[in-house]
Amino acid sequence: MTYALIIHGGAGAQPGTDYTLQKAHMGELILRGQAMLETGKAAIDVVTEMVADMEGCGLYVAGKGSAPNTQGVFELDASIMDGPERRAGAVSAIQNMVSPIKAAKLVMDDGRHVMLNGDGARAFAITKGLAPVNDAEAYYTEHEKHGSMEPVSHGTVGAVALDTQGNLAAATSTGGTFNKRPGRVGDTPIIGSGTWADEQIAISCTGEGEAFMRSCAAYDVSARVRYGDASLNAAVHRMLDQVAICGGDGGAIAIHTNGDISMPYNSLGMKRAFVTDTIPATVRVFETEPPA
Ligand code: ASP
Repeated sequence: MTYALIIHGGAGAQPGTDYTLQKAHMGELILRGQAMLETGKAAIDVVTEMVADMEGCGLYVAGKGSAPNTQGVFELDASIMDGPERRAGAVSAIQNMVSPIKAAKLVMDDGRHVMLNGDGARAFAITKGLAPVNDAEAYYTEHEKHGSMEPVSHGTVGAVALDTQGNLAAATSTGGTFNKRPGRVGDTPIIGSGTWADEQIAISCTGEGEAFMRSCAAYDVSARVRYGDASLNAAVHRMLDQVAICGGDGGAIAIHTNGDISMPYNSLGMKRAFVTDTIPATVRVFETEPPA
């Protein structure tokens, strides 16, 4: 029974910051995800559950932990992709919804469109019965605990999974970069930039979104594996080289259908946890590479 699961809490981790709460949370969450996979849950449902939990807890710059834009408004991005049929869904600059990733999944399940933006995304999610945030001031209270409000600060959450049926899925959700302009949309909701899953690989990116968009980062990894016969790890590293050429830093979590996992970063740290049928659940923030 082969399976694998990786989650991340963003590549904006800063040395000297205490991530005890995030590490404890990721440690529990990855075990919950492992149990889901071991009982035969589909990858698409596991990544949805992982990301929705990280959105709701307020410990990361996504969902409840999101930071406001320069006008004090919370505009959130999320996307999800199901590998086998490349179904995809995304929401961008959505306001006042508890779970942007569940909104993205509803867009995917509906099937008519891939991405909905702003008010249209929110109206669609509410029509489908998703919970709104009724009092933004009272709900988005956690962002000042995340550290610097400088423009370079950022954070995101994501999950990739390979289930026991051999299917892959990826999901990513973010409050975006700190002090972003109103209407700014990053890589996170862009299928092929922040998120990708097909029959061979699944990947969720985090970092300076503009550089990831200009690198078509997530799909770049798929193409390197598909057309270039690169190993997963080599492909993710080469993608981050392209992001660096575009002036950005960050990281990614990725799984190959053969069970390979990869989670490099070229920023200072990346909150992450991983487990496979052969590697016990592990949580890290600053170490550069997982054990083989
Ligand atoms: N990629 C996200 C964005 O640019 C931020 C992050 O991953 O930290 O919106």
